Amino acid sequence: MKALRRFTVRAHLPAQLAALERLSVNLRWSWDKPTQDLFAAIDAALWEQVGGDPAALLGQVGPGRLEELAADDSFVRRLDAIAADLDDYLTRPLWYQQLGGEQSGAGDEAGLPKGIAYFSMEFGVAAVLPNYSGGLGILAGDHLKSASDLGLPLIAVGLHYRSGYFRQSLSADGWQHENYPSLDPQGLPLRLLTDASDNAVLVELALPDGAQLFARIWIAQVGRIPLLLLDSDIPENEHDLRSVTDRLYGGDQEHRIRQEILAGVGGVRAIRAFTELEGLHAPEVFHMNEGHAGFLGAERIRELIEAGLDFDTALSVVRASTVFTTHTPVAAGIDRFPVDMVERYFGPDPGDPSVGGSRLLPGVPLDRILAFGAEDDPTKFNMAHMGLRLAQRANGVSLLHGRVSRSMFNELWDGFDPAEVPIGSITNGVHAPTWAAPQWMELGRELIGSDDLTSLRETEAWSGLREVDPGHLWWIRCQLREELIEDVRARVRRSWLERGAADAELGWTATAFDPGVLTIGFARRVPTYKRLTLMLRDPDRLARLLLDEERPIQLIVAGKSHPADEGGKALIQQIVRFADREDVRHRIAFLPDYDMSMARKLYHGCDVWLNNPLRPLEACGTSGMKSALNGGLNLSIRDGWWDEWYDGENGWEIPTADGLTDEGRRDDLEAAALYDLLERAVAPKFYDRDDNGVPIRWVEMVRHTLQALGPKVLASRMVREYTQKYYLPAAQALRLVIEPGRSDTAEFAVPFGAARELAEYRRRAERAWPQIKITDVDSYGLPDTPLLGSELTLTAQVDLGGLGPDEVVVQAVLGRVDAGDALFDPDTVAMTHTGTAESGHEIFTATMPLPITGSVGYTVRVLPHHRLLAGDNELGLITLA
Ligand SMILES: *Cc1c(COP(=O)(O)O)cnc(C)c1O
Repeated sequence: MKALRRFTVRAHLPAQLAALERLSVNLRWSWDKPTQDLFAAIDAALWEQVGGDPAALLGQVGPGRLEELAADDSFVRRLDAIAADLDDYLTRPLWYQQLGGEQSGAGDEAGLPKGIAYFSMEFGVAAVLPNYSGGLGILAGDHLKSASDLGLPLIAVGLHYRSGYFRQSLSADGWQHENYPSLDPQGLPLRLLTDASDNAVLVELALPDGAQLFARIWIAQVGRIPLLLLDSDIPENEHDLRSVTDRLYGGDQEHRIRQEILAGVGGVRAIRAFTELEGLHAPEVFHMNEGHAGFLGAERIRELIEAGLDFDTALSVVRASTVFTTHTPVAAGIDRFPVDMVERYFGPDPGDPSVGGSRLLPGVPLDRILAFGAEDDPTKFNMAHMGLRLAQRANGVSLLHGRVSRSMFNELWDGFDPAEVPIGSITNGVHAPTWAAPQWMELGRELIGSDDLTSLRETEAWSGLREVDPGHLWWIRCQLREELIEDVRARVRRSWLERGAADAELGWTATAFDPGVLTIGFARRVPTYKRLTLMLRDPDRLARLLLDEERPIQLIVAGKSHPADEGGKALIQQIVRFADREDVRHRIAFLPDYDMSMARKLYHGCDVWLNNPLRPLEACGTSGMKSALNGGLNLSIRDGWWDEWYDGENGWEIPTADGLTDEGRRDDLEAAALYDLLERAVAPKFYDRDDNGVPIRWVEMVRHTLQALGPKVLASRMVREYTQKYYLPAAQALRLVIEPGRSDTAEFAVPFGAARELAEYRRRAERAWPQIKITDVDSYGLPDTPLLGSELTLTAQVDLGGLGPDEVVVQAVLGRVDAGDALFDPDTVAMTHTGTAESGHEIFTATMPLPITGSVGYTVRVLPHHRLLAGDNELGLITLA
C-alpha cells in the first residue's frame, strides 16, 4: 500500500543541543564545512544515508543518541562555538556596511538601497531544496549566498514546487524517465510566514471567472538572506489551483502564466507582508532574474495607482527602480504567451465591468499591460520585452551576451545602432565556498593565513599560489579525481541496477574508470544548442581516444532533458547506447540525475571541463567556472564567459565554425577540432611526467587557471558589480523620482512630482517625435584637402516639433564609413544651441577635429534629453538627418 502523504516526526532536542535547530534551518550550513562536520559527528552513517541533510538527520536521529550528545561536553562546546560563529556571520558589518560607511556620513545620501528584492522562478541553493532545473537557478542561489556574504539587504522571491524539478532515471534502452517525488515542506529547512496570532499569512490573487488563488509563504533562510517561496498547495484553494506550484517548468502555457502571475504579482504581495511583519525596510530596488516574474512591475504600478498616482507617473517610478537581467540569446527560448491569454487574466471582468482594469490589478488598464509585452507577432506577449519596458536598467550575463542582446533587442530601440542599445552586461560568477573543494579552501586559508577568505576577491590574494610546490597541487588534483571515481563507480552501478541489470553481471563496475586516467567532464541541461552528442560525431575516433594504450581519456557525462523535449531525450539515449558498449563502458558513462551534489563531485574531480555549445547561444555558462575554481582546465568553444576570459594558457579553445549555415558541416568541423585538441594537446600534456610522476606543464596550467580565473569567476565579484552598476544607480534614480519635481509648475511640487515631470516629458517627447526634423546641415572650415586634425564645423537647423532646445540633445556623429556609407564606431559630439532661424527652427553647431584618416563621414541626430533619464538613448527615440 502506498501512503498518500508523508511527514517527519522528530525527537525533542535536549536544551543543550537547541542550537542544532537554528544551524539546520539556516542554509549557511550548506557552504560551511565546520557546520557540516558537526552534523556528521552526530551520526556519521546516518549523515551519509540522508545525503548530508541536517534537517533529515535531525528527523531521524534517535532520542538516545541526542541524550548522549547533550552529556558530551566537548560536543556541546563545539556546537556553541559554531552557533556563535553563525550569529557573528549574521550580524557583523560586511562589505555592504563598509561601502555605506565609505560613501556616507550622510545617511540616505550614501544612495545605497535599503532593500533589494530579487525575483527568480528557480533557486538552486542546496541539493536538499531541489527548486532548480539548471544554470539559471544555480546562479540565483549563488547570488543569494554572495549577497549574504557581502551583507546586502536583499530579499529573494520565488515559488515552492511540491515536486521541485524531476528526478531522472534511465530505462534499459537508455530513455530518460522522470519521477516527481513529493517534497514534504515540513522536512525541508523552511519556516512558514505567520502573523501575530500564528496564522499562516496568505497572499491572494483574483483570477478570471471569479476564482481566487491563495498561496502561503515559506521562508528559506540563506545566511542573511530570506528567500520567500510561494506555495499554492493549501486547502483554501479550489482543487485545480492547488497544483499551480506543483512542478518547475511543467504543464502548459496556462499553467505557466499562472505560475508567473503568482511569482510576480504574488511575489510583491508576499514581500509587503513579510517586510511589514518583520519590521524591515520596503525594498527600493527590484531585480528580475529573467523575464518570468515581469508581472511584478504591473503589480507595483497598481500599488502606486492605488496610492494616487496616474499610470505614467507610476511607470516612471517602477522603471527607475527596476533592474532586468536577460539570460536568453535564442529568440525561441524567450517566454511568450498568447495575447488572448494575457487578456483573460488582465482584462476587465465581464461580470463586473465597473472595476477599472482587472480584478487582479484594479486600476491598471489592459491595453497598457499588453503594450509592455508587444512584439513583431501581434498574437504574442513577450516577457523579455516586458522586462525591458519595465526596467530602466538591463543587462546580459557576459560581454558577448551583452553584445548579442543589444542586437537581439535592437527593435525596441529602433534607429539606434546595436552598440547603442542600453543593455549592459555583468558576467556571471559562482559561489566559491559552495563549489570549491574543501582541499582548495584549506590551501586558501593556509596561503592567506586566516580563516576569513573574503580577501579572495582581490587578485593579490591568489598570488601566494606561486610558491606552492607543483607536487602539492598535483596531489590535491589526484585526491579529488580519486574521490570522483569512487562516486562514479557507485553511481554507474546503481544506474545499471535501476535499468534492470543483475548484481552478478556488474562485477566490472568495481574497477571501471581509473583514478590515473585523464578525466573529462560534460554535464549540463540538454537543450539542442549545448550539443551533448558532438563528441559522438565520429564514434570510432572517440573510442580510439578512450582506449588509447598510452594516453587514454575517460569521459563522464550527465544532464537532464526537459520532459517535453523528445529530441533531447534521444540525444541522451545516443550517449547511453554508446556508453553501454562493452569495449568502452569502463571509460565513458552517462550518470543519471544530474543535480548539485553530483555536480560538486564532478567539478572537484574532472581534469578537463568540456563545453561545446553552438556559439553564441550560451549566454554565459557557469559550470566551467566551478571547474576552474578547482583547478580544472576548460576545453571549450569560445562562447559566454570563455570568450572573455580564455587567455591562451588557462585551457583550450575549440575553434568555432560559427557563420557556417550548414549545421552538419559545422558539427563535423568543430568535432574534428575537438578530437584533434584532445589527441595532440590535452592528452600529451597530461601524460608528460617528470621523475616524480608529476605532469609539470599541466600543473602550471592548473596554477595559472586558479590564479587568473580564481578572482574573476567569483559570485562575490558579480554581486559587487550588480550593487555598484545597477542597484546603487537604481536606488538613486528612485529617490530622485519620488521627490518633488524641478519644474516651476505647482503640479510637480509634490512628492512624486519628479516622476510626474518625467512621465509628462516622456508623453510630450513621444508626441513631438514624429514632427522632429533636421532640415539643413552645413559644414564649414574644411580645407580642399582635409588632413587629420583639420577642424570641421557643422551647423544644423532642427524643427523640434514643440520641444525646447534644452529638452533634446543634438549630436554630430563623425567616423569611418564603409562602402555603403554606414558609419561604424563613430565619435559623437554634442552640438550647442546657438540661436533660432527665421523659419523658427533651432540652430545647433559644433566644431571638431577630424579624428581619423581614410573615408570619413558625418551625420547629425536628435535624441530626447532629461535629467531623470538613465541615458539619452533610454526612450528609444531618435531622428537622423
Ligand atoms: C552550474 C550548474 C549548471 C549550469 O551549468 P552550465 O554549464 O552553465 O549550463 C547546471 N546544473 C547544475 C547542477 C550546476 O551546478
